[in-house]
Amino acid sequence: MLFPPTIAGSLPKPGWLAETEKLWPKWKLEGAALDQAKRDAALIWVKLQEDAGIETVTDGEQFRTHFVHGFLETVEGIDWNLKTKMGIRNNRYVVDVPTVTAKPKRSRPVHRDEAAFCRAHTQKRLKWTLPGPMTICDTLADGHYGRRADMAMAFAEILNEEALELEAAGCDVIQFDEPAFNVFMEDVKDWGIAALDRAARGLKCATAVHICYGYGIEANIQWKQTLGSEWRQYEEIFPAINASAIGQVSLECANSRVPVSLIGLLPDKQLLVGAIDVATDRIETPEQVASVIAEALKHADAERIQPCTNCGLAPLSRAVAEGKLAALGAGAALARKRHG
Ligand code: ZN
Repeated sequence: MLFPPTIAGSLPKPGWLAETEKLWPKWKLEGAALDQAKRDAALIWVKLQEDAGIETVTDGEQFRTHFVHGFLETVEGIDWNLKTKMGIRNNRYVVDVPTVTAKPKRSRPVHRDEAAFCRAHTQKRLKWTLPGPMTICDTLADGHYGRRADMAMAFAEILNEEALELEAAGCDVIQFDEPAFNVFMEDVKDWGIAALDRAARGLKCATAVHICYGYGIEANIQWKQTLGSEWRQYEEIFPAINASAIGQVSLECANSRVPVSLIGLLPDKQLLVGAIDVATDRIETPEQVASVIAEALKHADAERIQPCTNCGLAPLSRAVAEGKLAALGAGAALARKRHG
């Protein structure tokens, strides 16, 4: 199928599971009841994605409160009580982050059983998202390594263990989320890609990297206003990404100031073209989604284009997210029809 839609990853949590319209929502249940509720929420979203025509579905991140800390919660070597105030994403927002005090070690598989659960309940392609090594390092304080590249490589090793287990559990795509790639462009070339390739080593399933301009939260909206009339961050890092072993690149295109022509710098990759804006509650029309695909077609073959969301839909209301999923599926179908 041409233009098979997918999503960047996250979806809103139902109001009975967690606080709504928040990036760091608190769970509303505990223990076994919470575990059951997470599975129920994932089932609902898998079904809604299927019904919207999404071909590669995710769990919507229903099993974790945040894409970075959800993976790190059970990792040893991180002191969650030793909080350091850090301006993350190059001081875009200040957060109290936990501190790495020893070499990180997975105490157990993190998402394997959750992925196996989703696998058992959908025939569609299943994608699992993990934080990328650079973004992890930009969300933790370093009290052990002294060099960010070293800390990233240590996390890449445990991400790789996790990714291999997720593949064995039936995931078709493993995606690493690297919003930090758009912020530390020099580091991407120096060690970010090397760490990413280490995290994906040995995977036979499809692999992806998601590089966006962040959730549609106020701090990001303000940051975007400082980036000028054209956002050319991708231009600096795409040649290095094209040379990496990662198969797919997930990009922000809809309603952004990214020149879509920059995808010309990724001739060897599958392109997850962001056709849904996450910074507005306005629901796209299928026509708008199709027009982003048409723009991408000027610079890449149809076989390489998969329409996607710009970023996660987690902070939106459920009704808006459902509307955007439907628009994505309908827009892809429209583009398919026009392409013949
Ligand atoms: Zn994103």
